[in-house]
Amino acid sequence: MSYDFDLFVIGGGSGGIATARRAASYGAKVGIAEFDRLGGTCVNRGCVPKKLMVYASHFADHAAEAAGYGWQFEPGTFDWHKMITAVNNEVTRLNGIYQRMLDNAQVQLFAAYARLLDAHIVEVGDQKVTADKILVAVGGEPFKPQIPGIEHAITSDDIFHLPQQPKRIVIFGGGYIGCEFACILNGLGSEVVQVIRRDRVLRGFDQDIRMEIQEAMIKHGIRILNADIAGIEKTDQGLKVTLQGETEETIITDALSLAALGRRPRLDSLGLENTQVEVVNGAIATDRYSRTAEENIYAVGDCTDRINLTPVAIQEGRALADTVFGGQSRLMSYENVPSAVFTTPEAATVGLTEAEAAEQYGEENLHVYRSRFRPMYYTLPNKDEKTLMKLIVHRETDKVLGAHMVGDGAAEIIQGVAIALKMGATKANFDATVGIHPSSAEEFVTMR
Ligand code: NDP
Repeated sequence: MSYDFDLFVIGGGSGGIATARRAASYGAKVGIAEFDRLGGTCVNRGCVPKKLMVYASHFADHAAEAAGYGWQFEPGTFDWHKMITAVNNEVTRLNGIYQRMLDNAQVQLFAAYARLLDAHIVEVGDQKVTADKILVAVGGEPFKPQIPGIEHAITSDDIFHLPQQPKRIVIFGGGYIGCEFACILNGLGSEVVQVIRRDRVLRGFDQDIRMEIQEAMIKHGIRILNADIAGIEKTDQGLKVTLQGETEETIITDALSLAALGRRPRLDSLGLENTQVEVVNGAIATDRYSRTAEENIYAVGDCTDRINLTPVAIQEGRALADTVFGGQSRLMSYENVPSAVFTTPEAATVGLTEAEAAEQYGEENLHVYRSRFRPMYYTLPNKDEKTLMKLIVHRETDKVLGAHMVGDGAAEIIQGVAIALKMGATKANFDATVGIHPSSAEEFVTMR
């Protein structure tokens, strides 16, 4: 049977576009549907605009630190509108680049919502197209729990379009997004209260890293409260947020609070029920090749809820395109996937946490190395800023099982360390590596 397309991709985010381009490079005829702007969460309302705002949030600190080096700056002012406009202009530029990449790869874009009618037919806008293989790469959306008044809370999707900077904000959630936005807004001068339901932020990260970040965030002026949210109410003074649990308090904040309580796959109205595709715990179930229970339909990225990171979605998609269209069987490896949290200070990690390593190998079989120091940059400004580095090593094999860092440049440094872990480096390999002096990174090769 002949189809309109060899591959039809639903979702023009990082995973969908990477798969489409790779498949097209092997000569496949590819179509892609995206009803919103190209680039998905990462480009439009995630990694990219967030990181630009992280940069913006550092300048007040840099200006203050410059005094230690002999520079004197007048206290500056910050223009939210100007920053948001510049950030969104950059996003628009990237949307254009994605369009050109699809054009160059001869991938046909359908700027419309797509819905599966069966395993080979997709309704896209008012057209119907047929495809031999279909990829679902529709990403996720913010989750809003059923708290009274939650409709008054915005999500991180909305923050990039706020006309004004919130002077006071309550942020719910102690995950990546909650922590990153708490630090961004704090750095830009907002009064930030972060409400978390556990005793520490960033569940899943190494305990030392969680502690170090949380202490640093508090030191930088963020109020972190341990509580659940009982309700949000609109009043004349602003939003009234009522907390319950460990902290029982009522906070009046600007007409704004930010819910950063996780994201969920966006599967509504996709027509999955017209196929054999299985949904387990709200996410599309796949095998190791990203194939769903419907043998010609695949899924990658956040809609499969494996590791919800842009580069993971891209690698899943490329592995799938190489396998299905490139004649080489390739599996995505989920081992030693590095990640970073762009808080202030930044954190990054690769491999096992100490707790995971202890569970897997036994605590007595581990060697844990820690180094906590003030980076040279902060000596002249005389600032109490610390960097923490940690290595977890398997005693018997000397293999480095995990590397963790909180401090300036953590993401840049851990990216390199991740290559070593992926190659199975031992502590002896780290020790045999000559450090770059003076740098913070050299601590990773000099820890005793
Ligand atoms: P996370 O899953 O990281 O964090 C969600 C937070 O919300 C947790 O602290 C969780 O608490 C809390 N929470 C969940 N439900 C409730 C509830 N009903 N009441 C109170 N608290 C609740 O989600 P994010 O939204 O922060 O981020 C989504 C995903 O996006 C991440 O998993 C990550 O993969 C990705 N991301 C990656 C970034 C990066 O790489 N730098 C940046 C931003 C996002 P608890 O821990 O107790 O469950």
